[in-house]
Amino acid sequence: MRILVVEDEEAIAEGLKFNFEQEGYEVVVAPDGQLALTVLKECGRDGFDLIVLDLMLPGLSGYEVLRELRQDNVLIPVLVLSARTLSEDKILAFDLGSDQYMTKPFALRELLSRVKSLIDRRQAIVMAAANAPATPLEGTAAPIIPIENKPEPKFQFGKVTVNFQTFQVHVGDRVHSLTTLELELLKYFIEHEGEVLSRTRILNHVWDEHAEVTTRTIDNFVLRLRKLIEPDTSKPSHILSVRGTGYRFVATPSPQADAAEDFVE
Ligand code: CA
Repeated sequence: MRILVVEDEEAIAEGLKFNFEQEGYEVVVAPDGQLALTVLKECGRDGFDLIVLDLMLPGLSGYEVLRELRQDNVLIPVLVLSARTLSEDKILAFDLGSDQYMTKPFALRELLSRVKSLIDRRQAIVMAAANAPATPLEGTAAPIIPIENKPEPKFQFGKVTVNFQTFQVHVGDRVHSLTTLELELLKYFIEHEGEVLSRTRILNHVWDEHAEVTTRTIDNFVLRLRKLIEPDTSKPSHILSVRGTGYRFVATPSPQADAAEDFVE
């Protein structure tokens, strides 16, 4: 497992490298944003299993690195490790596609546990996708479509096809790549089709238990998913808002339902 540490403070970078190596990870350090992008380009989109990203960097900021990565569909999990503690910073980082956010100073054990869980989570999705039988997910309305005898774990609803192996969402002719967290959230919705899911429940199941996120983060993620999958984001037909509670995912909207909003309290 390889970790890219993007950090300009040498003492922190060295400390992270030492501790990650103690855990058995291979570590590459990039002291600025531009160099990080160069290293990532050279190593390919699967060259690392995790990126630990500082935000305040000389030249290109961590935000810009993150934006560029996700625009290029590089989906390596990113853990932002920053001295910035404002919730606006966290929201922006998550909006740009970060998977975790930890503030400095940090507790080493907690950092290591989050690093492990991010790496394990992505591995688990990739492995499950590779081994998944060509059967529908429990409780879902549409089958996963096998292609050329080789079962590919896909889920289809409306004009949307989610490919859990490639982390891509096909909507008509358009293809979008999802980050690990975006895919996890969509997967959680699909697996609980029709159920009312409270924000707290979503937070507990999709995010890490120590994640420094608020329920507002979920709303931002839902907004992003809706932009990808909803024909009309002002009248969502798949990810419905449940007033005062959270959300409910519907694979096949019933035509007479008030698609704009559920009033289940
Ligand atoms: Ca810095």
